[in-house]
Amino acid sequence: MNRADIVAGLKKILPADKVVTDEQILKDASVDRFRKYENIRRVYTQPIPAAIAYAGSTRDVAEVLKFANDNRINVVPRTGASATEGGLETVVPDSIVLDGSGLNKIISIDPVNMQATAQCGVCLQQLDDQARAQGLTTGHSPQSKPLAQMGGLVATRSIGQFSTLYGGIEDMVVGLEAVFPDGRIVRIKNVPRRAAGPDIRHVVIGNEGALCYITEVTVKLFPFHPENNVFLGYVLDSMKLGFEILREVMVKGYKPSIARLYDPEDGAYHFSHFANDRCVLIFMAEGPKSLAEATAAAIREIVAAHPECEPVDPAYIERWFSHLNWDPSNIAAERVEIAETNNIGHTTEISANWSEVYNIYEAAMRRVRAEVPDLTLWGGHSSHSYINGTNVYFVYYYNVGDLKPEEEIDRHLKAKRIIVEETLKRGGSMCHHHGVGKYRALWIREEYESSFHILETLKKAFDPNGIMNMGDIIPIPK
Ligand SMILES: Cc1cc2nc3c(=O)[nH]c(=O)nc-3n(C[C@H](O)[C@H](O)[C@H](O)COP(=O)(O)OP(=O)(O)OC[C@H]3O[C@@H](n4cnc5c(N)ncnc54)[C@H](O)[C@@H]3O)c2cc1C
Repeated sequence: MNRADIVAGLKKILPADKVVTDEQILKDASVDRFRKYENIRRVYTQPIPAAIAYAGSTRDVAEVLKFANDNRINVVPRTGASATEGGLETVVPDSIVLDGSGLNKIISIDPVNMQATAQCGVCLQQLDDQARAQGLTTGHSPQSKPLAQMGGLVATRSIGQFSTLYGGIEDMVVGLEAVFPDGRIVRIKNVPRRAAGPDIRHVVIGNEGALCYITEVTVKLFPFHPENNVFLGYVLDSMKLGFEILREVMVKGYKPSIARLYDPEDGAYHFSHFANDRCVLIFMAEGPKSLAEATAAAIREIVAAHPECEPVDPAYIERWFSHLNWDPSNIAAERVEIAETNNIGHTTEISANWSEVYNIYEAAMRRVRAEVPDLTLWGGHSSHSYINGTNVYFVYYYNVGDLKPEEEIDRHLKAKRIIVEETLKRGGSMCHHHGVGKYRALWIREEYESSFHILETLKKAFDPNGIMNMGDIIPIPK
C-alpha cells in the first residue's frame, strides 16, 4: 500500500483529526531518544512514517492493527514516547505509529483489593498522585514518571527507584488487556496468584510492541508512608567495597526501597557539593515506622563495620532525591544544552550476579575509556539490587563536534558494544530495564543463547506477518 492509501484506510477507521500527517510531526515520530542528536539538529535519517494514528478506544486499536496486518504495514506502538533504545524508530518506510495516549482513563483505584486499573495512556505520575491522595502508592517510580504512560511502562519491563522494596513492573502487574495483530482482544484476569499453567502475563510484559498492543493494565497498590522515610548516605573510595556492602545488605534479607552506589565520575555529576571525587553509597528505608527504622538501623550497623565509609548529611540525599525525576521541561532544557555545548549523553544498563558485577564494571570502565574518543563523562552507578545480584547503569557523555548523525550513532554504539560484550562474556544480561529496542537487538541471540528458540517462536506465533514494531527485540531478517 502506498502512503496515500494507508492514510485513506486509517481515516475510514478513525476520525480524520486523529490521523496526523504533518511532515515535522512525522519526522519527530521517526526517532526516539536514541537519536536525540538527529532530532535536535533536525536532520532525520530514518524512514518517515505514513501517519500517526491516535486511538481513542481498545476497539480503535484492534481495527488499526487488523488493517495493518491485512495490508502488511509496520505498526510502531507508542504511549509516553520516552523510549531511549530506538523502540519508537520507524525503520521501514510508511509505518503507522499507533499512539495510545488518548486511552487515558483511570478506571479504578481499589483500596480493598489493593489494585488500580488504568488505560495504557495514563501517565504514571497521574495514577500515583491519585493513589497517594488516598494514602496508597503504586510503588513504581522510574525517573521518567512524569513522562511515561502505563502501556509503555509495561511494554518495556520498566523499573523504578524504589525497586529494591517493590520490585520491577513485572512484580506489580496483576492483569491486563492487550490486542494482537489480527485484532483479537485478550484479557488476563486479576487474581493474587494462579498455578494454571505458564504465567502468560510475561508474554505481554516487556514485548516492546513487537507482539501485541497493551490497552489496559491493573497494578498492585501499597500503603504510602512518606513520613517514615529514612535517608542514609556515605562516601567511600572503592566501588568494589561499595558492591560488597550492597550485597551484604541484600543477602542479610533487608529491603531498603533505595540502594544505590555511584562511582566518582557519576557521583560528581549528581553530588558535586559533597562527593569530592569519591564513590557515593545511598539508602532509603520506607514503610510502616517500625519497619523503616529497623531496616535503617540494620544498614547503619552493616556500613559501620566498614570504617572506610564516611557518613554524609542525610538531608543532602533527600534533597537530591526529590529533584531526580524528569518532566517535559527537563527534556526541553536538555535540547538547549546539547545544541549549545555539543555535549551529548547516553546510558546503557546491564545486570549481573554479585560474583561478576565488579569485574564487568571494571572491564567496561577500562575499555570504554581507552577505545571511545572525546568522552566528557564516563561513569556508572548501581541502582537496583536483588538477593543474587545488581545492575550497573553506565553513563557516557561525549563531545559530538561536527559528527554527522550516523557517526554519532556509531560512537554511541561503540560504547554500548563494549559494555554488552563485557557483560555477556561474564553471564550477565545486556539489558536491565530500558528494553532491547532496535540496537541491542544486534546481540539478542547472544543474550538468549539456546532459549532464543522460545522468543523466536513467540514472535512467529503471535505476529506471523511481522508487522509489529519491525526490528525491535528481533532484528529484521536479512
Ligand atoms: C529522563 C528519562 C528517565 C528514564 N528513567 C527510567 C527509569 O528510571 N526506569 C525505567 O525503566 N525506564 C526509564 N526510562 C525509559 C522510559 O521512560 C521507559 O522505557 C518507559 O517505560 C517508556 O514508557 P513510555 O510510555 O514513554 O513508552 P514509549 O516510549 O511510548 O514506548 C516504549 C516502547 O514500548 C512500546 N510501547 C509503547 N506503548 C505500548 C503499548 N501500549 N503496547 C505495546 N507496546 C507499547 C513502544 O513501541 C516502544 O518500543 C527513562 C527515560 C527517560 C527519558
